[in-house]
Amino acid sequence: MTRKFNFYAGPATLPLPVLEQIRDEFVDYKGMGLSLVETSHRSKVYDEIHHQAMALVHELLNVPDRYKVLFLQGGATLQFAMVPLNLLGAEDHCDFTVSGAWAKKALADTTKIGRVNVLFDGAAENYTALPDAASLQASPDAAYLHLTSNETIGGIQWHDWPDTGAVPVVADMSSDILSRRVPVEKFGLIYAGAQKNLGPAGATIVIIRDDLLAKSRDDLPAYLNYKIHAKKDSMYNTPPVFAVYALKLVLDWIKTNGGLPEMERRADERADAIYNVIDTYSDFYRSPVAKKDRSKMNIVFRLPTEVLEKQFVSEAEAENMLGLKGHRSVGGCRASVYNSMPLEGARALASFMEMFVAKYG
Ligand SMILES: *Cc1c(COP(=O)(O)O)cnc(C)c1O
Repeated sequence: MTRKFNFYAGPATLPLPVLEQIRDEFVDYKGMGLSLVETSHRSKVYDEIHHQAMALVHELLNVPDRYKVLFLQGGATLQFAMVPLNLLGAEDHCDFTVSGAWAKKALADTTKIGRVNVLFDGAAENYTALPDAASLQASPDAAYLHLTSNETIGGIQWHDWPDTGAVPVVADMSSDILSRRVPVEKFGLIYAGAQKNLGPAGATIVIIRDDLLAKSRDDLPAYLNYKIHAKKDSMYNTPPVFAVYALKLVLDWIKTNGGLPEMERRADERADAIYNVIDTYSDFYRSPVAKKDRSKMNIVFRLPTEVLEKQFVSEAEAENMLGLKGHRSVGGCRASVYNSMPLEGARALASFMEMFVAKYG
């Protein structure tokens, strides 16, 4: 098989050794005579995988002990509702930064549940720039401040974090979790769907500080209540066993490949390879995003015409590079280069871009 370079935004490429291990173990898990996915989630064998995966999240992200790691379902999308349901009391309000498509969705659900004060909205620049993190002044009585660490569609990423004093920061890190070091102690809650950087779709990671867990409202239906999931170690109901198993293998892969310092270094290298071509041929390629806010995960760029953009995507496909069409809401092209994208993939794309400009520029 020719393995293609997969630049899709999510579900996204996975490390080949992980896919191969899943293949090898899938039908007969470690000689048990059955597959892990047909085993009870209460079995010892699943229990170990589940807890090892949680421990790996703690270890790799350097999560302090006063935080709990949860594995939930419903994607980051369910967290858009669960965060305010649990943390936003009837008398409270939260602060929001609206940085693009995903922040807007989080905001839309939050406003259905409680009061929101928008601190920043990038609409005027069409969500191509972020404010200085240090300039964000959370209201002192806000229940929390919400931000989206990486806007997967617009291609902008926070590279600094706000200082909010006692106001907890809640972050949607779906598209850059574990791609760089993050000071977890600066956050009250972090959530992320696994299917971009960490595995197949089906598992959502929530990292929540004890004092916020204690605030979770008791009148919520069981599945929506963080406290119930935490008390049962995310086994209140059937967890997504396959997704957690695959997540655990990806976490092992991150660990054996040098952990977050190495993931960060690789992300820099991949992103530099592609942005360098964009900047070198700036009369042909154009990044709509403010340089200081460029995403290292989702690289958005335009070509001189839409006809050329279409041509670019289809010629790239013929060269085994998939998923380069931009999201329909912003157009153009987008290369998603998550943790599992090998450097050769980014280099192949950069060379292809140079070749393309030589041909059509
Ligand atoms: C993909 C994505 C989501 C939505 O995730 P689902 O798992 O599909 O609900 C939310 N936020 C960000 C930043 C994303 O990239």
